[in-house]
Amino acid sequence: MGVSRLAAPVVKRKKLAEVEWNVIEDFCKGCNFCIEFCPVNALEESEKLNAKGVHPPKLKSEDLCIGCGLCERICPEFAIYLEKKESKGEK
Ligand code: SF4
Ligand code: SF4
Repeated sequence: MGVSRLAAPVVKRKKLAEVEWNVIEDFCKGCNFCIEFCPVNALEESEKLNAKGVHPPKLKSEDLCIGCGLCERICPEFAIYLEKKESKGEK
């Protein structure tokens, strides 16, 4: 019996860290691990083709990412990196 793959729903979860999500597009080999394992389904394939002829991931929207860091750790090509956002002016 075939297993049908339904699009995972977007799940709202509490932010673990305020991060800026980055991808070095040409490092991506298109394995889609980051997209499949993101716990809040924040990533999708972009429309662009990179140097390897695959579609690198992109964030669906800035505020979906909860900063868990899983995509950064799971990427076999080290294409994804997170940067902590500066916390805004509490003095
Ligand atoms: S895990 Fe890395 S190599 Fe795989 S699709 Fe995501 S960015 Fe590309
Ligand atoms: S850090 Fe990566 S895996 Fe974690 S929520 Fe953000 S996009 Fe998803």
